[in-house]
Amino acid sequence: MGSQPHLLISQFVRDQLSLRGARINEKRTQPEGEYVLYWMQSTHRFEENWALRFAILEADRLNKPLVIHQGLDPTYEHANDRIHSFILHNARELARRAEAMGLFYQFVLRRRRDDDRRVVDRLAARAALVVTDLYPTCGIAQRTQRLGERVNCRVVAIESHGVVPSGAFEKEEYAARTIRPKLHKLLSLALEPVAMQGPRRTVSPTLAASLRDTLAVDTLDLTRIDIASEIARCEIDHAVAPVALASGLPAARARLAVFCEGALADYTRRRSDPNDDEGTSRLSPYLHFGQISPAEVARAALASPHAAEAQKFIDELVTWRELSLNFCLRNPNFGTLAALPDWVHKAMASHADDAREATYTLEEFERADTHDELWNAAQRELLLTGVMHNVVRMLWGKTLILWSAHYADALAWLVHLNNKYGLDGRDPSSYGGIQWCFGKFDRPFYNRPVMGVIRPMSIKRARDKWDAEQYIERWVRSTERRQPDLPFPA
Ligand SMILES: Cc1cc2nc3c(=O)[nH]c(=O)nc-3n(C[C@H](O)[C@H](O)[C@H](O)COP(=O)(O)OP(=O)(O)OC[C@H]3O[C@@H](n4cnc5c(N)ncnc54)[C@H](O)[C@@H]3O)c2cc1C
Repeated sequence: MGSQPHLLISQFVRDQLSLRGARINEKRTQPEGEYVLYWMQSTHRFEENWALRFAILEADRLNKPLVIHQGLDPTYEHANDRIHSFILHNARELARRAEAMGLFYQFVLRRRRDDDRRVVDRLAARAALVVTDLYPTCGIAQRTQRLGERVNCRVVAIESHGVVPSGAFEKEEYAARTIRPKLHKLLSLALEPVAMQGPRRTVSPTLAASLRDTLAVDTLDLTRIDIASEIARCEIDHAVAPVALASGLPAARARLAVFCEGALADYTRRRSDPNDDEGTSRLSPYLHFGQISPAEVARAALASPHAAEAQKFIDELVTWRELSLNFCLRNPNFGTLAALPDWVHKAMASHADDAREATYTLEEFERADTHDELWNAAQRELLLTGVMHNVVRMLWGKTLILWSAHYADALAWLVHLNNKYGLDGRDPSSYGGIQWCFGKFDRPFYNRPVMGVIRPMSIKRARDKWDAEQYIERWVRSTERRQPDLPFPA
């Protein structure tokens, strides 16, 4: 990154920041700016948030207060009640904690799609410097880039998604086996906990009041509002309903504790059973929204006496998750077939015209309306809960490819379904997981219809490996009786 804070900070923090940061524009810090602005986009937490840490260091160096701004618009892709609700409940928690921690945190909810007041621009116009999150998906990189062009001050983006700083890997890594040893070399250093220190200068009541005028929007008192009725007033997709999953750091920590004290001891076996609700951490929604730091999760797992099982978990949490992060950061085609290696393109070209066992439209897939109850059950788990078990997700993805007339449609539809209904969707791991179904990060296997040499996965054989009947009973038969209306457009 271009310039570093001149304070006495540890070499560890300095290294982390320089490997996680990127200058977004070539503009200067504005000495007459009234504050440093941290625009919270993807890391919805105060703890182990490297962008926030840098913003605080810069605020102290410039002797200015720090303003933390988080906004929620109706215009992000798939904006719906499920995602809005998870974000808003966490924002309420953040508002409470900010007060206790002496941080100035302001949340703005824009309800209408035609509301074009650019809140961040207005805040940035009075700032000395803008710091934000570096994140490759959800349109965040593009929004940040556009802000960098529009404003007059320096804009810096810092990544907090990975345990190991993403800047440690300048090129695209091609497989888990290539990134794993590199991650392991850096892991123990990257896991060092760093205590959070608030900014020295606080936002005065006069500045706070004038910021509200600057915003020209009614800022919410998150501790008082009725979140459901606020969401009902937003111009978003109300068909995708909220799910019964508590949002926020305390909920994530509670889940982490239950997992570390329970299933982690037998993770390798239990993670293979989609009927075992407690067999995996189920932390992916919290990790996606940055509500809990992956380093905190890793430290908790590594403190377990079951070292081999903890290492298996770390392989998912760090190796596979950060392989996906590296993929989305270093490959601009992460959302299209162009991201796939040559051998996959050859396989698709020679099997494009193979006869399909069945083909469906996006709407039929979305409604969980195929001939196969197990596939429908997987889709219904996603529709109803906002997550899908990893074992089923692989099968769901590979089978949708088999039942689509065109590979490009299959990819676009998987991204659509995963990102619209998944609370952990729109994440680097969403694209990594979906592209893995097409052969990304993998090697060729034996030749088969439609998939060619891409690793096959058979929905029929899955029934021999785990109790598919129990899964179908749960997500198709019993939920059809209890909950016949699925959350998709009429
Ligand atoms: C088709 C497909 C789509 C996927 N879409 C998503 C998605 O939208 N969001 C998402 O977070 N993950 C996705 N994954 C990866 C994986 O399925 C989920 O991360 C996992 O099921 C989440 O459950 P958990 O939190 O209980 O995982 P645990 O087993 O407890 O793992 C802990 C954490 O490690 C990470 N992780 C685990 N497995 C993987 C993996 N294979 N690749 C990358 N990171 C991993 C996740 O952050 C997870 O929360 C997808 C995989 C496939 C095959």
